[in-house]
Amino acid sequence: MEDKVMIINGKVILPDGIKENAVIFINRGRIEDIKESSEIVNQVEYEKYDAKGKYVSPGFVDIHVHGGRGSDFMDVTVEDFDNITKYHTSGGTTALLATTASTSKEKILAVLETMKLVKLRGSNGAYIIGAHMEGPYIDYDWKGCHLPSEVRNPDPDEYSEILDKCGHLIRRWTVSLELPGVENFIREIARRGIVVSAGHTGVNYDVVKEALGWGVTHTTHMYCSMSNIVWDKAKRRGGMVESIFLLDELTTEVIADGKHLPGEMLKLTIKNKTTDRIALVSDAMRGSGMPDGEYTFGPKDGQKTIVEDGVAWVPDKHCYASSIAKMIDCVRIMVRTADCSLKDAVKMASIVPAKIIGVEKEFGSIENGKRADIVIFDENFNVDSTWVEGKIIYKA
Ligand SMILES: [Zn+2]
Repeated sequence: MEDKVMIINGKVILPDGIKENAVIFINRGRIEDIKESSEIVNQVEYEKYDAKGKYVSPGFVDIHVHGGRGSDFMDVTVEDFDNITKYHTSGGTTALLATTASTSKEKILAVLETMKLVKLRGSNGAYIIGAHMEGPYIDYDWKGCHLPSEVRNPDPDEYSEILDKCGHLIRRWTVSLELPGVENFIREIARRGIVVSAGHTGVNYDVVKEALGWGVTHTTHMYCSMSNIVWDKAKRRGGMVESIFLLDELTTEVIADGKHLPGEMLKLTIKNKTTDRIALVSDAMRGSGMPDGEYTFGPKDGQKTIVEDGVAWVPDKHCYASSIAKMIDCVRIMVRTADCSLKDAVKMASIVPAKIIGVEKEFGSIENGKRADIVIFDENFNVDSTWVEGKIIYKA
């Protein structure tokens, strides 16, 4: 396509509502203008793309995704990065945080070095905003599918080296709040502008409240690998779930794959946090887009999982080991099971996650001057095309 494109005949999902007769003008990868179709006379210099009555939505920003189509970001090759970022455009994702699992310092640095190469060259699929480190500073008792041998307490020598070498690539870090030394770690990453996300954690309300002062702002996969109602002998205390509901300062995210959380829990989260404070995330792993079978979570020698019934399981099937969803699936599940309007579901998949990680000036909505990151889909949530910086990267 040319540098100048206009998308016509779409139902455009704008910040203030869905507009049936809006036309989007794209110039050199940016949204140049949004006009009523009646205002348009003859724009010969713009190539036309006919959305054929489908929804024209801001591209999705997935702030928690590990992999897809057989690859994980922890495979640490440019080819695997390309495979994942391209694959997820088929689900409408146009920007993402490449997410790591708990692993050694060497492997963490290798992932970040690979990301550096991909960012220098430019992405072939969804844009990689940066990294989301999920672990390794995670409480053993709340590790979920992270390898028991890889979770540990924050080590200042280790994290200082990671931060000094590659800290600028890290946008978000998921950490348990109960570990020795965690306050210093959180204060340090918050100081560097990294979004601190509490997760894989069993703490009570008092600890969460205190951790707000350390710099915690976000929380990792609501309800999953986190405490609710903590027992202190006969006494009940609020856990992480109750803290998220009570503390407006905290944002959260849901894995809306239709497996991790049933409709009533998605509704409960919306009722308590509002759609302005919840991001939809895929938390997808390498088994997404692949036939059922065995796959590892994280690196190739990571936790074994079984993909079956539309989700990844740990081998003994006592819990899930992340999802195989794409972002468009999460939007669909919110609309169909959580009484969520399409506009709100799209908001939770685009501008809300962009705000959570502080990139809303560039990403997350169809507005003048922003990146032309767009997904076009029909009323059955079939993706027609996904556009990254004004270029069609995926076409059904
Ligand atoms: Zn994850």
